[in-house]
Amino acid sequence: NDLRRDHSALVNHGGDDVLQSQLTAKDLVLQILKKRAAEVDVDNCDPGEEDAFYVADMGEVYRQHMRWKMNLGRVKPFYAVKCNPDPEVLRLMAQLGNGFDCASKAEIDLALQTGIDPSRIIYAQPCKTKSYLRYAKEVGVKQMTFDNADELYKIKATFPEAELYLRILTDDSTSLCRLSMKFGASMDIAPQLLELAHQLELKVVGVSFHVGSGAEDPRAFLKAVEDARLVFDQASEIGHEMHTLDVGGGFSGDTFEKFSGILSDALETYFPPHIRIIAEPGRYYVANAFTLAANVIARRDVPDPADPSRDAYMLYLNDGVYGNFSNIIFDHQHPVAQVLLSADNTSSKSQDSETIAYSIWGPTCDGIDVITERIDLPGLLNTGDWLYFEEMGAYTKCSATRFNGFSDNHEVIYISSETGASALLDY
Ligand code: PLP
Repeated sequence: NDLRRDHSALVNHGGDDVLQSQLTAKDLVLQILKKRAAEVDVDNCDPGEEDAFYVADMGEVYRQHMRWKMNLGRVKPFYAVKCNPDPEVLRLMAQLGNGFDCASKAEIDLALQTGIDPSRIIYAQPCKTKSYLRYAKEVGVKQMTFDNADELYKIKATFPEAELYLRILTDDSTSLCRLSMKFGASMDIAPQLLELAHQLELKVVGVSFHVGSGAEDPRAFLKAVEDARLVFDQASEIGHEMHTLDVGGGFSGDTFEKFSGILSDALETYFPPHIRIIAEPGRYYVANAFTLAANVIARRDVPDPADPSRDAYMLYLNDGVYGNFSNIIFDHQHPVAQVLLSADNTSSKSQDSETIAYSIWGPTCDGIDVITERIDLPGLLNTGDWLYFEEMGAYTKCSATRFNGFSDNHEVIYISSETGASALLDY
């Protein structure tokens, strides 16, 4: 009921016209961004009132969930908290019936705060801090991954009743963020680890893998499922009671149908229906749901490097790579600036006005703090204008710092473009 109330409040935030007219989800997000940005008077506001802010469309998260269910109905998502631990996202995940992939004590706490049972958490970090492991035991988080012998001894000493998933190595060579150089047991080592776990009287119940975040080659899933099957068989022969396969993350909205098709076929071929399948999607759920608006705090006139006879401008925003644009550094993203509000360019006028070349910078004193080295935008932008950036939901706010005294905790305005969500939100 709380959520239903929230939902109608969210919708009302956009005005009644939002529901009645045929606005697209993007139109709705833009409308809210503009409304909020227009409220700021940069010439008179208090420090921080002009800070960057997000609009989060929970309807988009919901649509991604429905898309998941349609294409990968057999696979239960355990949302990767690290990707975006926003409390509303976590709340929605809990209410959708999803589990949580947590990698630290703080993430376990965030997941538990949604009110879910600890059995809906997997501590998916193969190299765990001892005190966190004791904490996992205390709060009843039993499922966890491992990929090396030392971790098995650690678990034996600390939490011998844990339910273990052997994380195996994958070919992640086509992914944006490679993980296999850091985690995953090779197929050669896997049997020894399974034997050791058996000798230590530890329970291995599953296999896990991750094909790398932002993976591009769906065949990585096929190979990983084949390898997982082999390891399953080896584990069963040794005497482990295997019941779950964890196919990790690596899904993205752009390629989901292609990936899920290949994964579904592989699962059908190699894993009979009595084996439970879980996954740890992060980016897939939230990347598109968050749009960020940032304010132009300064501008510098420079010759256009491509044509020195023309002017170009350096724009300085109040958010950069040390803040929400941390995805440029850590997640290899290239966020694209678009004009939200400009004193000189109403959106209709900007359509036909001439474009001007800009480079876009963050607010810190570091030269590395660059968002875009060159972009052509319509019309002349000034201090006080606003830009916006779509697809800012994954690996952004969660890895922001407070370097130079700038905020790492920006406002999020929650909306739902999914009118059908009110039924969903009534749990
Ligand atoms: N699971 C583990 C163990 C991870 O390390 C990550 C990301 O680094 C994820 C899940 C989430 O991956 P993605 O955002 O690609 O779905």
